[in-house]
Amino acid sequence: MPELPEVETVVRGLRDAKLVGCVVQASRVSWTRTLGGMSVAQFEHRLLGHRIEDIRRRAKYIVIALDGGLWLLIHLRMTGNLSVKSVSEPRDPHERAALVLEDQRELRFRDSLKFGRWTLTDEPDAVLGVLGPEPLSEAFTPTLFRPLMQAHTRLLKPLLLDQHVIAGLGNIYADEALWEARLHPCRIASSLSPAACNRLYAAIRKVLQRGVDGMGTTLGRGTVNFYSVAGRRGSNQDALNVFRRDGEPCPRCSTVITRIVVAQRSTHLCPRCQPG
Ligand SMILES: [Zn+2]
Repeated sequence: MPELPEVETVVRGLRDAKLVGCVVQASRVSWTRTLGGMSVAQFEHRLLGHRIEDIRRRAKYIVIALDGGLWLLIHLRMTGNLSVKSVSEPRDPHERAALVLEDQRELRFRDSLKFGRWTLTDEPDAVLGVLGPEPLSEAFTPTLFRPLMQAHTRLLKPLLLDQHVIAGLGNIYADEALWEARLHPCRIASSLSPAACNRLYAAIRKVLQRGVDGMGTTLGRGTVNFYSVAGRRGSNQDALNVFRRDGEPCPRCSTVITRIVVAQRSTHLCPRCQPG
């Protein structure tokens, strides 16, 4: 599933494709549930003629601001992929939705597992306002982070995945951050010392920034994996220390990395660096 670095890479790709300023001439929806409840007719009618004013990221959402106070929020979920193509290029059989632009290009959404969602709304805060702080923002400081951990008696792994607590982390970067901070995924968040909180804070920023710099993580080769808007693989998979490296030696201490299940999520750790 795309996490903060992958979604950030997509947003930068959409900006590089010069979508800002483009006017939506029509839209196309072939999987109704992608719209999360809005009818296709209503979606097409409301979008028609609106200009894209801005494209940015909030948590794992791609936030497209249109003129007239309209917003399109795109969540890629498991297999969602955005690309910008000429109208004449053949369509992917897994295309679920597309925006047809005035300049003879289309923003196309391929999503083989169909969990991705496009939300068209004039009240984006109803979706985005409930999300936790952005971990790479300047406002995200150790002083902000420590009380978030101290306030929760939950296990670290599911807490880090909770988008209402911190935005943008998923399975890959949570495992990497916990390894970096030498913390077991089943530690109780409120039991962390101030020093451990600071280590985890720094680790979260480090692994996410490395992911952004590497233009995301692309684990496999098939179309369900992550690709940028231009169709490129990320490179951060080469920088992962524990995620899906069970059976391999820990890069820090050479102990064999193990995989456990925490809150139904596959979790990778070094039993020596991250004692329970
Ligand atoms: Zn180790």
